[in-house]
Amino acid sequence: MTKQVVTTLPNGYWEGGAHWREAQVRELTGEDHVFLMEECQGLLAAHWVTEALARCVTKLGPNETTRESVRSLTVGDREALLLHLRRLTLGDRLTCVLSCPLPECREKLELEIKVADILQPLESAAVQEHELTIGREDGGSTIVRFRLAIGADQEAVASMALTDVAGAADWLLRRCVLSVSEDGKLAEELPASLAERLPARMAELDGQAEIKLVASCEACGGSFSVVFDAATYLFQELEAEFQRLYREVHLLAFHYHWSPTEILSLSTRKRRSFLELLDHELTDGVVQ
Ligand SMILES: [Zn+2]
Repeated sequence: MTKQVVTTLPNGYWEGGAHWREAQVRELTGEDHVFLMEECQGLLAAHWVTEALARCVTKLGPNETTRESVRSLTVGDREALLLHLRRLTLGDRLTCVLSCPLPECREKLELEIKVADILQPLESAAVQEHELTIGREDGGSTIVRFRLAIGADQEAVASMALTDVAGAADWLLRRCVLSVSEDGKLAEELPASLAERLPARMAELDGQAEIKLVASCEACGGSFSVVFDAATYLFQELEAEFQRLYREVHLLAFHYHWSPTEILSLSTRKRRSFLELLDHELTDGVVQ
């Protein structure tokens, strides 16, 4: 059995007008690791996240998880679920290797953080639509109704973002705008200041979507902040550990005579527990 936990989503899952905040997440097995590295090779990050979560988030509210339901979650909720998945599989501590941004310094530094420290507290209201009021120079006001960016938006703009970051950001915002009204009348055009105002408001409402870390550089005494991206972190970690996975399967198959399929069905945590026992036996001649 793989370990599962029930977590609470910052924004939550909507289906047919009903709202739930509970999500059930299970730890990664060796089989998941192979799937995410080999079958999902070449996927853009947003699509890769959908595959990882569709596999390891077993329930959203009372429903079995599907790719579509994972795509319907806000960017922040997807980040939170990736962090829970990382914590279940490889533990709570993360090490980030950063470079000091000061051109004359560029010192490499390691920042130790805990998943618990970067998970945002739950504050959001259970609503799917939000409003932003923008005052105009003529004294009137423009009301923009919008929803938060979700996984489907990230997937839709992912290819464009490779070559045109500003264009992709603009398209993502337009997807999230539901209506614009000026003094009570629906308007066709988006207000000019929306590109500035709306991302800031969305970031407030979906705080987990962009995690900022603050680091201090001992070499130059400066401090700086960087954005922590859970998807990039988890992908790079799994990629770095992939060769080790085959070595671990080989060792267990060789000594325990289990099939590779049986070994890959174990969670990372269990596989490593057996390897530790094996290491003790091979080193000391006894199982402690
Ligand atoms: Zn520095």
